[in-house]
Amino acid sequence: MSREAEVLDQMRVIIDPDLGKDIVSLGFIKELKITEAGEVSFNVELTTPACPVKEQFRGACEKAVRRLPWVTDVAVTMTAQKGRNRSPMQASAPGLANVGPIIAVSSCKGGVGKSTVAVNFAYALHRAGARVGLFDADVYGPSLPTLVRPRNTDLYQANDMIVPLEHEGVKLMSFGYVPRAPGKDAAIMRGPMVSGVINQLLTGTDWGELDYLVLDLPPGTGDIQLTLAQLIPLSAAIIVTTPQELSFVDVVKGIQMFDQLKIPTVAVVENMSYFVCGKCEERHTLFGAGARDRLVQQYGFKNTFEIPLVPELSAACDEGLPVALDLERFPFAQVYHDLSAAVVREISRIQHGAAKRPTLGFDADRGMVLTMPEGEEFVLPPVALRAACRCARCVEEMTGRPLLDPNTLDPNLYPVGIQPVGNYAVAVQWSDGHTSSIYPYEAIVERFTTPACAGA
Ligand code: ADP
Repeated sequence: MSREAEVLDQMRVIIDPDLGKDIVSLGFIKELKITEAGEVSFNVELTTPACPVKEQFRGACEKAVRRLPWVTDVAVTMTAQKGRNRSPMQASAPGLANVGPIIAVSSCKGGVGKSTVAVNFAYALHRAGARVGLFDADVYGPSLPTLVRPRNTDLYQANDMIVPLEHEGVKLMSFGYVPRAPGKDAAIMRGPMVSGVINQLLTGTDWGELDYLVLDLPPGTGDIQLTLAQLIPLSAAIIVTTPQELSFVDVVKGIQMFDQLKIPTVAVVENMSYFVCGKCEERHTLFGAGARDRLVQQYGFKNTFEIPLVPELSAACDEGLPVALDLERFPFAQVYHDLSAAVVREISRIQHGAAKRPTLGFDADRGMVLTMPEGEEFVLPPVALRAACRCARCVEEMTGRPLLDPNTLDPNLYPVGIQPVGNYAVAVQWSDGHTSSIYPYEAIVERFTTPACAGA
């Protein structure tokens, strides 16, 4: 075996936890050089420079290669792939030609803290090692100029493109930075005009090379948001909400809007979720328990984050300080870094096809058929899946007490509709009129593959 092959072989035991394959098969090892004296050097080209397990990879590679008796030295350089999966629109829009995944931060209502999340998420991504841009797409109420205060706010053009502002390494653009003549207020703009203006500003900005562009969408799930999400090639969405009773409905609306456009919702943030009292140090949930558990149970969402209500956050925002940059003063801001790590991993899984979901179908002879991404099939009688419904009509929300007696179900029940919902769940409408029972894939796979059910 050649020395090169020996080195590569050593690293085949290192598995990317998100992609589920070893780093050699994934083609991550580049520029492998070996000298006569046994000095080995190579690059590990990850899917993103913000990879949260970058240092673990480096250590594991070094250790693996050093096990070879002839190796005298190992030099590992961590790099990242450029420009994966750029859409045709991105390639043809000069300003976006070298921009990586575009991530929308969205909310159903205004005032829930969406822009604060977008800003801190962008800075957390940057701190993790990525080149990041932040675009504020809210022309009616642009908040970026308040939330981040670059020293120089004068916009200028170069080569017919607008040069974005920059603060602490993140490139910034907002309608709020564009000087306007008196009376030319955004309030007079109608929906289609708004999307046009935003699109012009986004594509007319010279973003240069970016690993991620964060897009702070205007609040709502109406025409403006839908048009924007259609115009701009979004890779993923984050939904921000607050924990009031109606927020679950809001999140579902958001997921559905992005679903229509085949944009995966990769994380949900519950902002102002709780308050830690300075006197008793206890956590108080001000608006009830929030929708987190329901999102996990019904939609299979893993990436849900709670951000506390922090009175000083408002003051910091008003000073133009992204709190994610000052963890010493704002320890709670670690949550923005956790969010960024989770989103980076999820996008990388999506781009590499590792986030492929199973498909659920119906065959009149066999029953419900679950086909795994690798092709393996599991079969279950429709009535068994119907009985497993966890919706609020079938299971008491607070106690988990079953409300549905499976013995009352029609044994000849069958599905009349099956659609994926979000990235992690599937909805089924049944012949008994029970509609939109939503099953997270994880729960469904478990149900289909437990010995009592498999092949039933
Ligand atoms: P949106 O973009 O949803 O309209 P913003 O991000 O502009 O909301 O936030 C609205 C207000 O709420 C701002 O004054 C902001 O400082 C404040 N805010 C946001 N998140 C929090 C939080 N977790 N704790 C306290 N204040 C917050």
